Amino acid sequence: MIIVMKKGAKKSSIKHVISQIEKAKLKPVPLYGTERTVIAIIGDERILHKDTLMAFPEVEKVMEVLKPYKLASKEGKKSSKVRVGDVVIGGKDIVIMAGPCAVENEKQILNIAKSVKKSGAKILRGGAFKPRTGPYNFQGLREKGLKLLAKARKKTGLKIVTEVLDPRDVKLVSRYTDILQIGTRNMQNYPLLREAGKTKMPVLLKRGMWANYKELLLAAEYIMSQGNREVILCERGVRTFENYTRNTLDISAVPALKEQTHLPVIVDPSHGTGKKSLVAAMSKASIAAGADGLIIETHNNPEKAVVDADQTISTEEFSRLMKELSAIAKAVDRRL
Ligand code: PEP
Ligand code: MN
Repeated sequence: MIIVMKKGAKKSSIKHVISQIEKAKLKPVPLYGTERTVIAIIGDERILHKDTLMAFPEVEKVMEVLKPYKLASKEGKKSSKVRVGDVVIGGKDIVIMAGPCAVENEKQILNIAKSVKKSGAKILRGGAFKPRTGPYNFQGLREKGLKLLAKARKKTGLKIVTEVLDPRDVKLVSRYTDILQIGTRNMQNYPLLREAGKTKMPVLLKRGMWANYKELLLAAEYIMSQGNREVILCERGVRTFENYTRNTLDISAVPALKEQTHLPVIVDPSHGTGKKSLVAAMSKASIAAGADGLIIETHNNPEKAVVDADQTISTEEFSRLMKELSAIAKAVDRRL
């Protein structure tokens, strides 16, 4: 951290800053210039707060040198892989997660599971606990939905990813799933992040629809700081002034996040656009941009999908898309 004092700052103000740094057991290195004094701090500055320092008399500017997210940053590690059994996310293989928005009934989820498995997906998605904007909308089958997902896993060998909404359900959902999904609305639900961090489950952390990269990385840090390092980030679009699409899918998030973190990054083109006609193009763009995987909503009867029908592609379209994606993966030296 570097603290720049105001022009002509009084000795007492400089002394005050220095004494506070020493109190935190860090080493202050003051550089007395002709006009201003600059104080560099040696040691792990993360224990000091920029805002507190900014509030000291005659402090003009505080510049952080270290990233506020230590475990998620690239400082110690270039890239990391998250293993879900024999499925590796963040390696050469692009991992596709696919399935309906919500688990609706046994026939639906088993049908879709078989179909996406045949097309080459490795992980089955499906919400059992649904975060719905209205309280009277279908909220998911809850534990019954989890049981159906587990049945689909048994029948197909696919791994499961499903959302957990409430810290009190982390244990329950962990008993059934292979990956805990934390959705956009909960990206800053700190008790939920901490609870997921206390498990050994891989966590798929979706970007808040209002969140910038730093906030997403700090949310990942919450999970990691509890001991769980198995975090996969997911770009799923953010809210902008555009209303043709449900969200604006930020493809640049993929390379931008990869510049800042070692964690794998996947993309959700379904929630990212809200339109089935855009899912294929955005899936291709995501892989071309360096995504480690995709999470796609697909249904055997999309018109009848109980949740998110507008953005859900048919299992036939999904199968065609997988073939097209394989060519894109090859072009960027990945495999699908
Ligand atoms: C989902 O993937 O089921 C979901 C609700 O996504 P998001 O949290 O990104 O809206
Ligand atoms: Mn959905």
